[in-house]
Amino acid sequence: MNPPRDEHAPLAPPVSGPPPAGERDGAGGLPAVIRDLLAGLGEDPEREGLRRTPARVAEAWRYLLQGYAADPEEVLNNALFSEDTDEMILIRDIELYSMCEHHLLPFVGKAHVAYIPDGRIVGFSKIPRLVDIYARRLQVQERLTTQIAATLDRLLKPVGVGVVIEATHLCMTMRGVQKQNSVAVTSAMLGAFRDDRGTRNEFLDLIRRGRDN
Ligand code: ZN
Repeated sequence: MNPPRDEHAPLAPPVSGPPPAGERDGAGGLPAVIRDLLAGLGEDPEREGLRRTPARVAEAWRYLLQGYAADPEEVLNNALFSEDTDEMILIRDIELYSMCEHHLLPFVGKAHVAYIPDGRIVGFSKIPRLVDIYARRLQVQERLTTQIAATLDRLLKPVGVGVVIEATHLCMTMRGVQKQNSVAVTSAMLGAFRDDRGTRNEFLDLIRRGRDN
């Protein structure tokens, strides 16, 4: 698909959805910043292959960081149900794509989220949604993990919550130490998951078992 070659149109109109960049980004806008980045790297932002890159990158970044626009409490509060169960509920292997705030590079992996309800449950699909809302922001993996746990704890008031995230950071694998297979693992354990070794081990065993199959 070739972009229109109008030298006087600095930015192509967005394909769909979002309002023109200038209206959202004030002054020069995000595309102008990206054009400066290209120039700063020694590239020619006006060459054919790069001409529409600033607009594309701006749109991609808005997508990748759309979590700022979503309210996790609103999402969960609309899907809370009374239920008389006290068994562990686990959503395992939730795909996770986030952006490291130190290098603006992706980190990618899986989240495992469990809780033991105390009279209230939340619709299954809302847990991956919650992970996504926090992941689609500039993050460090540690904070992402605790935010997910703390939000579930606050809204569900469960007996306990456990969150484990395993992720590969491109800032580690593409640059610096270049450890291709290193995985960072973070966890947040609240309530029974912190206090009760049996509960915590059950959670960790369930995650591990999924990996062996
Ligand atoms: Zn990083």
